[in-house]
Amino acid sequence: MNQNKMISEVVGELLGEDAVTIVMYLKGKEQVSEFEVARVMKTDIHLARAMLYKLYENNLATFERKKDRVKGWYVTFWDFFPDNIPYIYKKLQSKKLESLRERLMRETDNEFYMCTNACTRMDFDKAAEFNFKCPECGCLMNPMDNKRTIEFINEKIQDLQKEMASAPG
Ligand SMILES: [Zn+2]
Repeated sequence: MNQNKMISEVVGELLGEDAVTIVMYLKGKEQVSEFEVARVMKTDIHLARAMLYKLYENNLATFERKKDRVKGWYVTFWDFFPDNIPYIYKKLQSKKLESLRERLMRETDNEFYMCTNACTRMDFDKAAEFNFKCPECGCLMNPMDNKRTIEFINEKIQDLQKEMASAPG
């Protein structure tokens, strides 16, 4: 995985697509003023500031406050801070891996039932509560082969592990 992809994944998952746009703009530049960011984002200065400070709170940007000699007010100047990206990336990926493993366990440990019209799918205990009749349409619920689902989750786990192994940093 290349560095840009990792950056946009991390920033996007943490703070959303607007933050990715800001980071990609700051990247490779130095000391970008908050007003320039607002202009690039086509947003007002308050929203731009809010987004920039969110980056700062997540250790993804640093700033310096300088007094504008002409106007007399303070302006912040921003830099992208990439050092924590690989660490945050690994943390996010491990969390995803963990939840996939939990899903896999749920699928392998339970028998699932689905109604003939495919409106509901539930595990054995839940289906038994409804006497194996679909709560939506009243049809009989049948045990379902979840081999494909298990295969699918297993593939996703393998992909994620490969991705994590090839990540820089
Ligand atoms: Zn149904």
